[in-house]
Amino acid sequence: MPVNSHRHDVLILGSGAAGLSLALRLNEGLSVAVISKRELSEGSTVYAQGGISAVLDATDSIESHVQDTLKAGAGLCDPEVVRLVVERGPDNIRWLLDKGVEFTRDEGHGSAGGYHLTREGGHTHRRVVHAADATGRAVATTLESQVRAQPNVQLFEQHIAVDLITTRHLHGHPGHRCLGAYVLDLGTGRVDVFLARFVVLATGGANKVYLYTSNPDVSTGDGIAMAWRAGCRVANMEFMQFHPTCLYHPQARSFLITEALRGEGARLLLPDGERFMPRFDARAELAPRDIVARAIDHEMKRLGTEHVYLDISHRPADFVIAHFPTIHARCLELGIDITKDPIPVVPAAHYTCGGVLVDTRARTDLPGLYASGETAYTGLHGANRMASNSLLECLVYSELTAKDIEQQLAEVAHPPAVPPWDESRVTEPDEEVVVTHNWDELRRFMWDYVGIVRTNKRLRRAKRRADLLQQEIIEYYSHFRVSNDLIELRNLLEVADLIIQCALRRRESRGLHYTLDFPDKDPSQRGPTILIPDTYRPRGGTD
Ligand SMILES: Cc1cc2nc3c(=O)[nH]c(=O)nc-3n(C[C@H](O)[C@H](O)[C@H](O)COP(=O)(O)OP(=O)(O)OC[C@H]3O[C@@H](n4cnc5c(N)ncnc54)[C@H](O)[C@@H]3O)c2cc1C
Repeated sequence: MPVNSHRHDVLILGSGAAGLSLALRLNEGLSVAVISKRELSEGSTVYAQGGISAVLDATDSIESHVQDTLKAGAGLCDPEVVRLVVERGPDNIRWLLDKGVEFTRDEGHGSAGGYHLTREGGHTHRRVVHAADATGRAVATTLESQVRAQPNVQLFEQHIAVDLITTRHLHGHPGHRCLGAYVLDLGTGRVDVFLARFVVLATGGANKVYLYTSNPDVSTGDGIAMAWRAGCRVANMEFMQFHPTCLYHPQARSFLITEALRGEGARLLLPDGERFMPRFDARAELAPRDIVARAIDHEMKRLGTEHVYLDISHRPADFVIAHFPTIHARCLELGIDITKDPIPVVPAAHYTCGGVLVDTRARTDLPGLYASGETAYTGLHGANRMASNSLLECLVYSELTAKDIEQQLAEVAHPPAVPPWDESRVTEPDEEVVVTHNWDELRRFMWDYVGIVRTNKRLRRAKRRADLLQQEIIEYYSHFRVSNDLIELRNLLEVADLIIQCALRRRESRGLHYTLDFPDKDPSQRGPTILIPDTYRPRGGTD
């Protein structure tokens, strides 16, 4: 099959808030390619409910947002990064408004500049702009329609990046730079070459590595795995955030049951009807997210149950329907009437705090390669992400990326031609069951052994299994033609290994990382966990 070769100034892998905001931030004179492995809007961004944090109210302050973020991060945030992101917040919200995002308006108490602000966990002020309870949809659809109208941006949907192309692919080349990516066209089955002067990873998080997740199927850590293979450092992968209550139902993967339900009096119950949260925390169901998630996990492991229940049926039916119309309707479709029945729930992997290490210009270790959004580790979140800071981080780091690219344009030439993807030694896969089996096994042992409550014994058990599956998949990968599932599984295994390695290194409990072997915080462990690949090369001083 003939190979297509594409050339652009900037290649963006991913089309969530990070990828699309970058495409719109770049100078219109640049040719830009956006690669997206499904349709453009499919990613975590479109499912974001709460909103985006920024200091917009006159009674709020940058200092207060900075302090709240540092506190949530449990001593591991990079204060310089926190200040940078928080300071860029208001301008980025104005940028979204200019692009046409319709945030919820309000002139009364709790509003600023005509927009309604909510307050979420960890924030000491009202500072979250939102579009009702579907902020992500408002942001994603607006950015999508803007990008589709942008003549310099070429969109490649149903295309999945397989690996980065670097100077290592050019034998004997003395340089050290990212040149593009090999990309599988899911329509034709062909792996094409995409070359660019600058490449940006905006592929989202890695939460599909767990059995239960609030994330869509695309969150398979592809960018983190690709960067790691290309020689970039990765940091803080032990800090995976779990949302306490995701609906447990075979037909309802990834449906979140908002914390507001607990705020309105919903109780967590065991299968026999016992209310258990008061045994764990004086605040009971209103304890912080990580405490609730840990308590549920503890009870599920103790009893060997697949889920617990969240019950709001003691509140009047019309109140429940008026306050939670979406949840009521969705559960009713599945035969659960939340005005009468308890809702089966499990905690679910929600957010990847770690990722590809970048500096304050969004540069990774590999010259020419940037990372933005959930793929990146910037230092903003530390050991725990504060609600609504993640969309803000996407916007700010894409702004920083665009600026840095702009400043380097004059110095960076187009890359030379590179060898096409080599398929000469592979055949059609003979046993797809290997992929589906290993995928299920991975997600199950990550849930059981590397989930909310960890021990060294469980982590080592997981490491042995991850190593074995990785060997099998590397072998499979080198013999058979690549497919979407194979690419994702290979990346998930890579990311699982990074999570386990980070978790084994952190010998304390801090923020989202909780281990029974070291149940306390150790003040001496105040740095990020940084993993260095064998192929790592420090950047030169000139790029
Ligand atoms: C249910 C839910 C609710 C949330 N609520 C909030 C909230 O209220 N406020 C907040 O700040 N955050 C919230 N978050 C987190 C926030 O939505 C995400 O962190 C953020 O949207 C990530 O944006 P992103 O652009 O980095 O990645 P995503 O939006 O996940 O986009 C990733 C993109 O990369 C593409 N991609 C991935 N791999 C490849 C590949 N190999 N090749 C090509 N394309 C690829 C995907 O198809 C997708 O287009 C929520 C998350 C979830 C799941």
